[in-house]
Amino acid sequence: MNLSPGDKARKVSGADSMQAADPGLDKVSDLASGTPAVMRIADVGIDPFVQLFRPAGLALSSVAAGQAIPGSHWGDDEAGLIGCTLYIRDDTPVHSALHEAGHWLLMDADRRANLHTDAGGTAAEEDAVCYLQILLADRIPGMGRSRMLADMDRWGYSFRLGSARRWFVGDAEDAQATLMLHADAIDSAFGTLDYSPVVPID
Ligand SMILES: [Zn+2]
Repeated sequence: MNLSPGDKARKVSGADSMQAADPGLDKVSDLASGTPAVMRIADVGIDPFVQLFRPAGLALSSVAAGQAIPGSHWGDDEAGLIGCTLYIRDDTPVHSALHEAGHWLLMDADRRANLHTDAGGTAAEEDAVCYLQILLADRIPGMGRSRMLADMDRWGYSFRLGSARRWFVGDAEDAQATLMLHADAIDSAFGTLDYSPVVPID
């Protein structure tokens, strides 16, 4: 499935077909900017990401406000990947940083060596990355998996069951299984993650 960069509804997990971005998006938009009110790097700081990904070998590079983000496949404020560096800006959404990092984490050395801008990956990897970004949200103080799920809906990630939360708790067995194939590498980087599809009550 190829969508042009900038289409915020490009990530489809457990979906039969692409759906339009959530028509309710406006309700949660920042009225000043017209962009979805999702948690951004500036809200949580860059340090948690530096600490989180250092053991895995993924470096963080902070891009100055107003500068284009190197290696950003989707453009705008979304995170970029070149080699073993994740590029983020203060206005980069947390979900975007964790998503792109997730692709990097699931890549083999060959893909990492040739990585520039387009993370690529299979549909199965896309699902696993979506699952992983939800788990890793628990490692970002102030974020957590519940907020991640809400932000994915706000951004326009599209799921067959209609929301990221419903997908995560009830339709993500395939994603979980794919992720478990990488569990040793993931756990060696992050310590044992809680892979259970459980979301705390808000
Ligand atoms: Zn992806």
